[in-house]
Amino acid sequence: MPRRMLVLLALGLAACAATPPEAPRGFVLVKASVLDGSGSDARTVNVRVEGDTIVGVEEGEPPQGYEVIDASGFTLAPGFIDPHSHGDDDLFDHRDALAAVSQGITTIVVGQDGEAPFPLAEFFQQLSTTPVAVNVASYAGHGTLRDQVMGEDFRRAATEEEIEKMRQLLIEEMNSGALGFGTGLEYDPGIYSERSEVVALAREAASWGGRYISHLRSEDRTFWDAVDEILAVGRQAHLPVQISHAKLAMKNLLGQTDRLIALLDAARAEGIEVNADIYPYTYWQSTLTVLFPKRDFEDRKEAEIAVRQVSTPEGILIPRYKPEPAYEGKTLAEIAALRGTDPEETLMDLIREAEAMKATGEENVESVIATSMDEADIEKLMKWEHMSLSTDGELDGAHPRGFGTYPRFFGRYVRERQVMALAQAVQKTTSLPAAQMGLSNRGRIAPGLKADLVLFDPGTVIDRATPSDPHAVSTGIDRVWVNGVLVFEDGKTTGQYPGRALRRE
Ligand SMILES: [Zn+2]
Repeated sequence: MPRRMLVLLALGLAACAATPPEAPRGFVLVKASVLDGSGSDARTVNVRVEGDTIVGVEEGEPPQGYEVIDASGFTLAPGFIDPHSHGDDDLFDHRDALAAVSQGITTIVVGQDGEAPFPLAEFFQQLSTTPVAVNVASYAGHGTLRDQVMGEDFRRAATEEEIEKMRQLLIEEMNSGALGFGTGLEYDPGIYSERSEVVALAREAASWGGRYISHLRSEDRTFWDAVDEILAVGRQAHLPVQISHAKLAMKNLLGQTDRLIALLDAARAEGIEVNADIYPYTYWQSTLTVLFPKRDFEDRKEAEIAVRQVSTPEGILIPRYKPEPAYEGKTLAEIAALRGTDPEETLMDLIREAEAMKATGEENVESVIATSMDEADIEKLMKWEHMSLSTDGELDGAHPRGFGTYPRFFGRYVRERQVMALAQAVQKTTSLPAAQMGLSNRGRIAPGLKADLVLFDPGTVIDRATPSDPHAVSTGIDRVWVNGVLVFEDGKTTGQYPGRALRRE
């Protein structure tokens, strides 16, 4: 008999004395090892929930009138908050958000890399009429505003007048509840902006009490300039800034984590509130075009850097390639062998053929997963005090991070390699990202906070998703509640949609 039925039976028996039996006032999780998200040690306490709110964290016998859930053997933590999610890509086709809830995520923050739902007022409205399983907050996207104002004529700096138009749109988005202003400066159209454009718009976000989050202008060739840029935005626009999916992703950058952390710590000492998030994989996913920051796809020298410095022919995997679907799932080395051209030539040819297809209006033509990072750097970066965890994942994507990030972090990094204590790992996935995103009533287990909870087994939790099976559901995540409603149990979603739009507070 399922645990829950036993519990209901017990409640029913207890209620026999007083007729008629009343519906439980809520539920109490008992006997779990509770990590409250603050970073303090685990305690075995009862966590009592009424409606969408945690109403008690207490010892002793649970009070009468609640469904009692025996959680012995499990750890109870606040639901994980993903500060960099691409869940907005197909949220309404995946309202149960299996990718997220199956790894314990209860809040996703979208509008990343400069691309956001627009206008946000409409998106938030849609979330209330067509609710989903997880909570959703969003940034306003720089690229999205640029699209609105500059359209196809985006391969240049914006004029004063265009920046002013973007600022007016940003005002609307901030007014609708955007957490702040987000950029994707390695992507079109953001890559063509000047620093002054970014600062001007970030200033507007700052005036609303907003934040700035960025996929940096470069994650490889001009990485240090890109770090300098985000710190300059924080310094000049006076708002908290966050480096998305922090990484050292080129041969000559590997091993330079100490230099990066020293820069960030110095900025904080100067008064710039800089934060970052990271995903626990040595390979990233993007479009092939990011391998050519100047978009000079016919420049063999640039192809050489991409293939020899940023990654390797064996390390570049092509999960999607519409011009020749037979290449999907193969590495650049394998495709080069098939075509009889060297890897550099092959890369240039693939991009040329993909760009030709994009020019016909076809979308999502290609993608790439490339191995560029080093485990030692990832472990060191993770430990930085202001580094939270994020997925950078989609609900239906090709990178396993979409399904595996949090179980991978807790299983491989925390349990197997003991990179940090469990309590600290929970803090980095809950209260830290909540603070980074400005969400004050989530991310901790305490009376008065929202009942976003994950029950998991730190002794067995592990990811199963891989590049060849990116949607494999992880193990060790037992149950997940969003706003007090169970959304994941027995390896499956429950068909409940208690998620809410979270507007800037
Ligand atoms: Zn990104």
